[in-house]
Amino acid sequence: MAERFDLIVIGGGSGGLAAAQRAVEYGARVAVVESAALGGTCVNVGCVPKKLVYNAASLAHLMHDARDYGFAVTVTGQDWAGFKAKRDAYIQRLNGIYAGNLARKNIKHVVGRARFLDAHSVDVDGQQLSAAHIIIATGGRPLVPDLPGSELGLVSDDFFALTERPQRVALVGAGYIAVEFAGALRALGSEVTLLARHARVLRHLDESLQEGVLEAFAADGINFVGNAVPSGLQRSAQGLQLDTADGRSHGPFDALFWVVGRVPATAGLGLEAAGVQTDKAGFVPTDAYQVTNVPHIYALGDVTGRAALTPVAVAAGRRLCDRVFGGMRGRHLDYNNIPTVIFSHPPIGTCGLSEAEAREKFGDAVKVYSSNFVPLWNGMTTHKPKTRMKLVTAGAEQKMVGCHIMGPGADEMLQGFAVAIRMGATKRDFDDTVAIHPTVAEELVTMR
Ligand code: FAD
Ligand code: NDP
Repeated sequence: MAERFDLIVIGGGSGGLAAAQRAVEYGARVAVVESAALGGTCVNVGCVPKKLVYNAASLAHLMHDARDYGFAVTVTGQDWAGFKAKRDAYIQRLNGIYAGNLARKNIKHVVGRARFLDAHSVDVDGQQLSAAHIIIATGGRPLVPDLPGSELGLVSDDFFALTERPQRVALVGAGYIAVEFAGALRALGSEVTLLARHARVLRHLDESLQEGVLEAFAADGINFVGNAVPSGLQRSAQGLQLDTADGRSHGPFDALFWVVGRVPATAGLGLEAAGVQTDKAGFVPTDAYQVTNVPHIYALGDVTGRAALTPVAVAAGRRLCDRVFGGMRGRHLDYNNIPTVIFSHPPIGTCGLSEAEAREKFGDAVKVYSSNFVPLWNGMTTHKPKTRMKLVTAGAEQKMVGCHIMGPGADEMLQGFAVAIRMGATKRDFDDTVAIHPTVAEELVTMR
């Protein structure tokens, strides 16, 4: 006999937990099924441990700058193993807090892998649950290319399990993770080679940011290899060698990471038993209200293949439950103007359309303001990373449609500007805002 709920959430990651907690606030009886650690990718092998590594790497940069400010600092390396142990302990504490929250809120935490039996019920290792509504929030996993020897490479999950920092590292890919890992490993002392299949990195971002990353790589001593389409990986006595389609061989490396995107975690989920359709890549498509092709089955977060970011999964889950259990008709997540940060060194903050996207959409009605400068902080330092800023406006009223920043503080700076963009701010609104001096951010309201 199946245990009955109002809502079953499959996946206790960012989106699933947010949805479950919002649904119980409206009095729904909820079960969360999770096969691994609570918190999902973000907490266990994503945002949280990554940000801690980023913080360590930022400290390495700061310690170099400290010398230029008159401190007698000698950096003798970082205790990776000790740092990892502390980081793991912090994450375990978070796992415990999540479990405590579920218990406190009377959400049933079912440990195991869920598999649909039909459109209203799932099996979890022999235990049967049924519900009027089911949310699929199973996230994704790293993609390993199907190439000879690809099993010799590691993926991002493995990065967080390393007890030693590899010295000679290859990162294959040119997206968020490749750029973030490259900057962090280099700052902590590794020799880093990033191999991209095109001549650029982060190709979906504004061109000024792509250029900024390559400029920062050159300044930091990260070896960038463009037009490198991987064709196979092999191990020699000297280490790992990556072959590329143009006949080149790259290496030797102590570790190679495949950071070439993620695939949806739907294997073994039994979607066919529930009649839930997937797209060609296996993602679960939904309408604007997170509804799949089955009206009472919803999908959100990475498994949908749209804007794979934690706050997006969280926002989609909360809005969905506001609508389904809270009576807020029409409530749904607007996927436009989602701000995002790449934790490179220095960081990138970006929101809205790139200049190229804006020109494609608005043609000659686009006006762009940009600035490229060495901030006051680095006036004193030998290391002089440039700050880049670009505002993209459209129409006679010069509505802000894009804001792109790379430089110190860009990660913290962007959130407020994202609010302004969402509210429909114009260049005039920026101009009429009094600057805060001396800051990096003031440039955004003083550009002409
Ligand atoms: P997940 O968090 O992946 O949760 C899905 C859960 O479902 C998992 O816990 C899984 O075990 C469980 N599950 C899967 N199948 C089943 C099943 N059949 N039965 C039971 N349970 C199941 N985003 C940001 O916004 N900022 C960042 O800085 C950032 N950094 C990142 C760094 C890295 C290295 C990575 C890999 C990702 C990063 N992300 C970041 C992306 C972010 O982690 C994801 O967008 C977010 O975790 C997606 O949440 P989700 O709920 O869709 O899925
Ligand atoms: P991304 O989608 O960001 O980038 C994938 C990269 O892999 C692209 O550069 C792509 O190249 C390249 N690629 C794809 N297939 C191949 C292939 N067969 N051979 C060589 N290169 C290939 O994926 P990530 O894995 O870096 O990150 C996954 C997602 O997680 C991100 O999209 C993001 O949503 C999220 N994330 C968010 C972070 C944050 O918020 N700070 C941090 C980390 C992850 P091409 O340019 O040619 O398409």
